[in-house]
Amino acid sequence: KQAAYAKLREVEPFTRDGERIEVMINAGLRDDVGMVAMTGADGIGLYRTEFQFLVSAALPQRERQARLYREVVDAAKGKKVIFRTVDIGGDKSLPYLANEIGKEDENPAMGWRALRLALEREGLMKVQARALLEGTAGRELNVMFPMVSEPWEFDAAKDVFEKQIAWLKKRKHQLPSAIRYGVMLEVPSLAETLDTLLPRLSFVSIGTNDLTQFLFAADRANPMLAERYDWLSPSILRFLARVVQTCVGEPVDLGVCGEMGGRRLEALALIGLGIRRLSITPAAVGQIKELVRKVDTREIGEAMRGWLANPPPDMRTALSEWCEA
Ligand code: PEP
Ligand code: MG
Repeated sequence: KQAAYAKLREVEPFTRDGERIEVMINAGLRDDVGMVAMTGADGIGLYRTEFQFLVSAALPQRERQARLYREVVDAAKGKKVIFRTVDIGGDKSLPYLANEIGKEDENPAMGWRALRLALEREGLMKVQARALLEGTAGRELNVMFPMVSEPWEFDAAKDVFEKQIAWLKKRKHQLPSAIRYGVMLEVPSLAETLDTLLPRLSFVSIGTNDLTQFLFAADRANPMLAERYDWLSPSILRFLARVVQTCVGEPVDLGVCGEMGGRRLEALALIGLGIRRLSITPAAVGQIKELVRKVDTREIGEAMRGWLANPPPDMRTALSEWCEA
């Protein structure tokens, strides 16, 4: 495994036609951060902050959260880190955070989770906002909200941060050198209003794990549905193409942080759709950089436009034949 990480560590992922593809990693534990250096990735495109909550017996105190965030940015050594605010609730439920109705969600993935929970447990969001601001003081803070389904949820979440910023400013505490806000696009409804939210965003990260399960109404963890949960289906690809189209020409960074980007044919399809930033599992960085170096974005872009207009019977076969041709 070490050898796989070391492979292409020093190589910058440029395509044959000179496009720089950002290859970042997904992480969630303090120790994962070492993978940035080990793989030569461009940073952490998704830091899942809920991991600290999941391994704690009680709600982690603000100081503990801030210390972790500081250690993470330190360990990333100047490379970008995108912190996702807690995605807990639903199936990642915490004994110390029971919901009001006192009963389990029947559909946890579509339940009281992530931002939905965080906005209603404002104390939790406030504490995390402050911890993120303190932990990244003097450095750039990139913060991303999970499960945003409508623009107002982004505004409400950002407002929690703005209030903490005002509080810290008043007391002359050091703030991050820059604060960039973004959303995960993982609930399909957000795509319908994304254009209206874009002017307020620095970046959008498509979470293809949840997006796929919601688009197909197919549980991402149910093996009986594995064949219905297909990242290479024309439905997903057309959906993603529309999101890319919405972002074209806008000053917003668009990337993908779902597992899809860590697989060769899927990553190729994403590049063909115009995606230029992938955040993936560390073990896949080497092979995705290798792929990037073989690709010509104009060629795969053109092939993809053809497939979107006239979906082949099997996209996976079409893509692998295209690779061999
Ligand atoms: C996703 O949903 O695609 C994602 C990256 O987040 P998670 O897997 O943590 O739900
Ligand atoms: Mg998700």
